[in-house]
Amino acid sequence: MIPDRLAFIDLETTGANPVRDRITEIGVVEVDGDRVTTWNTLINPGRPIPEFIQQLTGIRNEMVANAPTFAEVAEELAERLQGRLFIAHNARFDYGFVKNEYQRLGQRFRSDVLCTVRLSRKLFPEYPRHNLDSLIARHGLQTGDRHRALADADLIWQFWRLLQRDRGEDALAEAVQQQLKRPALPPHLDPALLDDLPESPGVYLLYGENDVLLYVGKSINLRQRVLSHFAADTREYKEMRLTQEVRRIDWHETVGELGALLLESRLVKERQPVHNRRLRRASDLCSWRLQEVAPGDFRPQLVSGHDVDFGRAGDLFGLFATKREATNTLRKIADAYELCPVILGLEKPAQPGRPCFAFQVHACKGACVGKEAIGMHSARLMAALAKLKLDAWAYPGPIGLVERDDFLDVEEVHVVDGWRYLGTARGEAEIHQLLEPTGQSRFDMDTYKLLRTQLAKGKLKVRRL
Ligand SMILES: [Zn+2]
Repeated sequence: MIPDRLAFIDLETTGANPVRDRITEIGVVEVDGDRVTTWNTLINPGRPIPEFIQQLTGIRNEMVANAPTFAEVAEELAERLQGRLFIAHNARFDYGFVKNEYQRLGQRFRSDVLCTVRLSRKLFPEYPRHNLDSLIARHGLQTGDRHRALADADLIWQFWRLLQRDRGEDALAEAVQQQLKRPALPPHLDPALLDDLPESPGVYLLYGENDVLLYVGKSINLRQRVLSHFAADTREYKEMRLTQEVRRIDWHETVGELGALLLESRLVKERQPVHNRRLRRASDLCSWRLQEVAPGDFRPQLVSGHDVDFGRAGDLFGLFATKREATNTLRKIADAYELCPVILGLEKPAQPGRPCFAFQVHACKGACVGKEAIGMHSARLMAALAKLKLDAWAYPGPIGLVERDDFLDVEEVHVVDGWRYLGTARGEAEIHQLLEPTGQSRFDMDTYKLLRTQLAKGKLKVRRL
């Protein structure tokens, strides 16, 4: 069944960012069965319209100077849209703008939303493009003033009628139902969540009884990821328990995936959610450092994050959560490379001048009794450890890793120094704040690995700070 009351909507705006930009024109085609009403109005956005947008839409600053503000039409618009299916081309955009305008007025706007881009994709899967211009060309839609709100709303309405004729009521109804299907939420959660969850990258936090933090996760699509926790068909025991415990969900949007990863890692460490795997504390970390005890004689020395700045030292091998893990790894390497466990400090010598036990079973080449030159042993040790070598910080100081969303025209700079994540900034003032020495950010393994992988890909824009 297709709802009886429809509203085909198009907006013109001062830009693409629903938080920062404002509406300049609203066009609505209201459809009640056979009755069709149109409504449109210019809106004074309370700020200048960028020149290129004035050119694109033909809506110039002087045209909106005496137009009503959104606040002045908010009530009438709400009445018109009340109880109607909100239909727009790339509906997330228009719905997002309308919702944000109401939010600024302290009001909540909610509606069932249908996107004609998704509808076109579903019903004309054979075509790669589904923007409005492609639809006009493909289906011979009648254009009025392109990029004016009512003319574009009318185009969507034309497209809708074409779908009814061309694909039939049943196919259309099925595609509409599929889009409108609301995923099930656990009973304890506020249903408004379904409207509010953004489809942007970010980090989400699941809270339980008494606001205990249960879980922190990240995704490039928050909405999809959060709802997937509650999808009935993919329930594992752990998910099921989590689902039953959740009482509240919170989230932070980020510009991109790296921002989400960094924030997730930080929140998990700082807040220790019940269901996240326990992450190692920075101070427990240890690593092997090669120490030259005599010329050409290198011995491994276990160092901890307390003693050595892992973010700056260049001669470290491996990162280990515990001493035991570090020792086990070195022992395996000794076995594989026939290195002497006594020289490596893994065993005490049996008696001075006596070979180690490994030598007696041909698992040591005899550096302990001078059968192998110590320089040779050192060289083989270095070769064996090479794969574990930590990358030294390759920059003279802090850097900013830039993530940008061109569509929303927003940018985030992740400030990093010596593999430490100092925080994420929007704008120069925030960058400077993050660079002030506070000594709070510590070296940690997850961030090191994450940043190393991301930097190795070479796709990130790096700014020296
Ligand atoms: Zn030996």
